Amino acid sequence: MPVRRALRGRILSFEADPAEVGDAASHLYLEDGVVLVEDGRIAALGEAGDMLGQLPEGTPVDDHAGHLILPGLIDTHIHLPQTQVIASHGTQLLDWLQKYTFVEEQRFADFDHAARIACFFLDELLRNGTTTAAVYGSVHTESADALFAEALRRNTRMIAGKVMMDRGAPAALLDTAESGYRESKALIERWHGRGRLHYAVSPRFAVTSSDAQLEAAGALLAEHPGCYLQTHLSENPDEIATVRRLFPWAKSYTDVYDRFGLLGERSLFGHCIHLEEAERRRLSASRSVAVLCPTSNLFLGSGLFDLAALRSAGRPVRVALATDIGGGTSYSMLRTAAEAYKVVQLRGQRWSALEALYAITLGNARALGLEGEIGSLEPGTEADIVVLDARATPAMAHRMETARDLAEQLFVLLIMGDERAVRATYVMGEPVSRA
Ligand SMILES: [Zn+2]
Repeated sequence: MPVRRALRGRILSFEADPAEVGDAASHLYLEDGVVLVEDGRIAALGEAGDMLGQLPEGTPVDDHAGHLILPGLIDTHIHLPQTQVIASHGTQLLDWLQKYTFVEEQRFADFDHAARIACFFLDELLRNGTTTAAVYGSVHTESADALFAEALRRNTRMIAGKVMMDRGAPAALLDTAESGYRESKALIERWHGRGRLHYAVSPRFAVTSSDAQLEAAGALLAEHPGCYLQTHLSENPDEIATVRRLFPWAKSYTDVYDRFGLLGERSLFGHCIHLEEAERRRLSASRSVAVLCPTSNLFLGSGLFDLAALRSAGRPVRVALATDIGGGTSYSMLRTAAEAYKVVQLRGQRWSALEALYAITLGNARALGLEGEIGSLEPGTEADIVVLDARATPAMAHRMETARDLAEQLFVLLIMGDERAVRATYVMGEPVSRA
């Protein structure tokens, strides 16, 4: 007998990018709908009036009437060892790393500490409705082992990797080109493809990896083409100047990664703020992903992501959205989308509520190449689901009185919402946290 569960509420699931097909054709919306889950996957969805009478006998129905049922939210860039670095005062990127982050990350040599933080981390993601994330560990294999073990136990779809860094940080945080390769390879063999887990080869950024280490990262990718690559690119002017000094042979920051074979459709580049046109062209041609981390970019004073320039029609760069905790300041992908909207505003550009909701669900799933598994409520996909209450706070309920249509309601939810709006989160059809 399959394990079944039905969820009733206002169903919203994207089928296409609103920026390409327009808001109206981009999504499925049912004001009173039912999603049927069987053995952890979406089995069917439709109008409640049609579905309720046809449910197999004994199927429990979770009543979320009036609330929004969406696919689980996806975060494409976040750091496990920075949950106690978030909200550290007064510095920009390179000083912030030295003063706060490189101190805190040393604690992750201890597996017990890493395991405790991994548990908190996944609790907090799920509390925010985030069911999949691309996660950086510390340099220590313990950090990746702890996160993967906890994610496996909870059956969450997670992407993660131990950071590779062989220079530019305290000795306790350095591996070598050889040990970084060997340890990453062992982690890939231990975890990649197990349960719902994926490995991401994770050279932190060009400032903390030698030529030899970046070459080793390229070798890992070539040997394991199913793995991801995640790193940072063009976040801060001092960082870019440092990269220019460390790699005098490179035409640009992007060229450093390109030279070692690190660009590609499974490559996630955090930030991409100060790119030159030639760099955007290479990211586009290689189908690499530029990851916008708005709360981090504002908090660290890094700069304003140029969404229109990246998406430019002739050579569009694939774009994803992420929190970047602990440079970022909120675990909530709703809050993150709201800050992205403000960054877009500061650039004089436009971004609709539906584009934002697409970004944190199907858009991010597509950026990860996982749209066959997650990011929508399409039958056959995994039943990672979030239920959102657009009237979660008195101020939201008050504002909602004057919202005239779905687009306006969604915009209010995005701009005013955060983890308080998360009514329930389901992983593979099982409820995992309730506000
Ligand atoms: Zn980051």
